[in-house]
Amino acid sequence: MSKNTLSINSHWKVKLAELPLQSRLCWEHSLRRYSTMRVGGTAACFIDVLNCEDLSQLLPFIQQYQIPYFVLGKGSNLIIPDTGWPGIILRLSSNFEDWHIFEEDHLVCVGAALPDVIFAKRSVPLGWSGVEFLIGIPGSIGGAIAMNAGAHGTEISDHLKTVWWMDMDGNQHQGDRDSLEFSYRSSPLNAVSGSIITSALFQLKESDSQTVKSHMKQFQSYRETTQPTKIPNCGSVFKNPPGHYAAKLIESAGLKGYGIGNAQISEKHSNFIVNQGNAKAADVIALIELAQDTVWKVHQISLEPEVQLLTHAQC
Ligand SMILES: Cc1cc2nc3c(=O)[nH]c(=O)nc-3n(C[C@H](O)[C@H](O)[C@H](O)COP(=O)(O)OP(=O)(O)OC[C@H]3O[C@@H](n4cnc5c(N)ncnc54)[C@H](O)[C@@H]3O)c2cc1C
Repeated sequence: MSKNTLSINSHWKVKLAELPLQSRLCWEHSLRRYSTMRVGGTAACFIDVLNCEDLSQLLPFIQQYQIPYFVLGKGSNLIIPDTGWPGIILRLSSNFEDWHIFEEDHLVCVGAALPDVIFAKRSVPLGWSGVEFLIGIPGSIGGAIAMNAGAHGTEISDHLKTVWWMDMDGNQHQGDRDSLEFSYRSSPLNAVSGSIITSALFQLKESDSQTVKSHMKQFQSYRETTQPTKIPNCGSVFKNPPGHYAAKLIESAGLKGYGIGNAQISEKHSNFIVNQGNAKAADVIALIELAQDTVWKVHQISLEPEVQLLTHAQC
């Protein structure tokens, strides 16, 4: 690395430390525990962003210095590379975990950092139905909207009314569900394209606590039977190609249980890769590529990853 490049690289770090933020900066911070797959190296800078004021300073700063950035939810749909991240990782916290209910209309306003599971559990005493499926999704509301997460025939966009997000200039925006185009595991709002979701309003349906709770129990027991819930993983690795199930295609291509290093195509569900202990991101990525190549050779069907690979190409 030339002396010039080195000084450009470290210049943003000096300037970042001078910003009047309430959020703390963590330098050379290990990312492994921030992904449910438990892989990945370190980030040059990791920031738990406490509030909108800090976010509105950080995003224009990132843009001004063209720093590689990534907004992390709960890392449940993510493979972080062993080489880590050369720029800034933002993770929303604190004020972004807020929650308000508006009784008459069954409306709930939720911060983007609130865990999906907590949203689901809080709907039980209210006796409001609609987000029971979130009980099995270990992500955040922001991540769920960015991925249009779904299960058991429901998607997060089904009960969404309004979303608030911030652009890279630090400007806030608001959009009604009907003006936003969601489709299978795809959303018009994602931090990768410069829209950082800060909160969302959902409208749920009147039901009763017992029914809501029993839906959740049903969903949980289905997952425990069919998925490797006790071993680190990143959920479904591939989207289901139209008319097919990715798991069936992988299994019939002979890859069920196949391992590279300490990563393995799950014995329980072939569309899951599990970390059997200290797997490397490189092992997981090699398995993903192997599954794609083999399924293509055997079935001439292309598998599109649902899981996101954190690559510098996104900078
Ligand atoms: C055991 C297990 C089961 C799962 N089951 C399901 C399932 O049934 N259905 C399903 O759809 N998914 C499932 N997943 C995948 C995953 O949980 C979801 O995609 C989840 O919505 C991702 O949320 P996250 O907060 O973890 O996002 P992350 O993995 O941290 O990030 C995913 C993407 O969202 C973006 N993002 C995160 N927060 C924001 C924000 N505030 N604003 C803008 N962009 C943001 C990130 O930049 C990234 O591009 C499962 C995962 C696991 C580990």
